[in-house]
Amino acid sequence: DTIGADLDRTAERWPDREALVDVVSGRRWTYRRFVEDVDRLAYALLASGVAKGDRVGIWAVNCAEWVFVQYATARIGAIMVNINPAYRTHEVEYVLRQAGISVLFASLSHRTSDYRAMVEQVRGRCPQLRETVYIGDPSWEALLRRGTPDLYEDFRTRRNELSCDDPINIQYTSGTTGFPKGATLSHHNILNNGYFVGESIAYSEQDRICIPVPFYHCFGMVMGNLAATSHGACIVVPAPSFDPKATLEAVQQERCTSLYGVPTMFIAELNLPDFATYDLSSLRTGIMAGSPCPVEVMKRVVAEMNMAEVSICYGMTETSPVSTQTRREDDLEHRTGTVGRVLPHIEVKVVDPVDGVTRPRGVAGELCTRGYSVMLGYWNEPEKTAESIDAGRWMHTGDLAVMREDGYVEIVGRIKDMIIRGGENIYPREIEEFLYGHPRIRDVQVVGVPHEKYGEEVLACVIPADAADPLSLEELRAYCEGRLAHYKIPSRLRIMEAFPMTVSGKVRKIELREGYAL
Ligand code: ATP
Ligand code: MG
Repeated sequence: DTIGADLDRTAERWPDREALVDVVSGRRWTYRRFVEDVDRLAYALLASGVAKGDRVGIWAVNCAEWVFVQYATARIGAIMVNINPAYRTHEVEYVLRQAGISVLFASLSHRTSDYRAMVEQVRGRCPQLRETVYIGDPSWEALLRRGTPDLYEDFRTRRNELSCDDPINIQYTSGTTGFPKGATLSHHNILNNGYFVGESIAYSEQDRICIPVPFYHCFGMVMGNLAATSHGACIVVPAPSFDPKATLEAVQQERCTSLYGVPTMFIAELNLPDFATYDLSSLRTGIMAGSPCPVEVMKRVVAEMNMAEVSICYGMTETSPVSTQTRREDDLEHRTGTVGRVLPHIEVKVVDPVDGVTRPRGVAGELCTRGYSVMLGYWNEPEKTAESIDAGRWMHTGDLAVMREDGYVEIVGRIKDMIIRGGENIYPREIEEFLYGHPRIRDVQVVGVPHEKYGEEVLACVIPADAADPLSLEELRAYCEGRLAHYKIPSRLRIMEAFPMTVSGKVRKIELREGYAL
């Protein structure tokens, strides 16, 4: 179905239930009012000459308006282009031009980012950009005044012209391993995925989902917003960008039942000095995804955050995003050691990355997925699309995985992150898991750095539990001695205060490698 039709169904069923709460501004919408405001924006876009297939950009931090732009563009079949709010002029210009954006929605400013000033700098070099509308600015109200309900007939006609296979969204990947690529997605891709993700954790109209992850990324807008609206649940926006305190306050104040985050976000929340004072008793579930979750963190999330049913998802932007997920009945072992089982209507296989031959269960190889969730392609990059999606429509993920006998999938690491030291394959994840157990280590990342003799050597980047008293390389090695094979024991140590992150909350290992001077 189309996203608009699905939203209408929810609103007809639960008109008076809450759809959206913007905690910072205190504004709230029931489904009835939510649809009215989505339509108002959709009329306004039509009145501004936005047609089906036109690209509409959104370069904004989390707020209610972000959600309205998502649903209003889908309503009229325009293609929404998500732009990372951390981008600066060089990158935003690239996206504006690459996607040929004609109307741009942007935040005015956030923290040190002055979006209006940045748009002014690049506008002259983006000939397709006709109009920029700033959220919380008179230009937003002016846009809305252009749309009138007499456009309703026009609107209905256009709705009937929509197909669920139309492209409606370009999402750039996180850029963890290089420059982001624009995955082009249809209604069918992301609405189904949001729906099935919500099914796995048994969402209903009773649920209230706290979403501190960026909407610009599929974790927020698909696993969050679309999972919510396809089940009649409520979207709770705690803050414009991730803030551990604001997140827990929102959970407490809004009695949220579900909380999202990448592992580093949960770590930040658990480490708040006043963590124990928050009332998190309303929580039952949530999603942790995006990067591997350390066992210790998972145990604390379950025990101390009351999230007994927390779910692990594995996926990527190119697959709408989720391919595998744990279910509420899975035990702790499955929720830490694996990323769950394959979602309905998705196929996976594990192949030899070199010759493509399918590997038996229990043996690591490149994970490939196929099904409704595979993107239409990378926007305007047919060669890159052909490198990732083969003739049989299999998406080659670049991730190394094992399909276990019991049908659960283990992610071993990314092909690009694998360290090859003197011919031995080393998976950083295994060493990271092990080092987490050290009481003086708060967070750790392991990467390969060049080495003359071995090709690569193991570097541990450590955030110490006590910054005033970091552990030494000798202490680290002594801890590993006899418990890890000698070639896996880090030979270099870098003490850090924080790791370089993508906005979706992932550590940019590429920077850890490049930023390390031998
Ligand atoms: P880019 O493709 O631009 O380098 P990216 O791959 O990080 O960036 P995303 O699409 O946001 O961009 O992330 C998908 C990747 O995140 C997956 O390919 C996988 O490596 C990793 N990932 C996602 N979920 C999990 C998980 N539960 N456990 C381990 N890794 C995960
Ligand atoms: Mg990727």
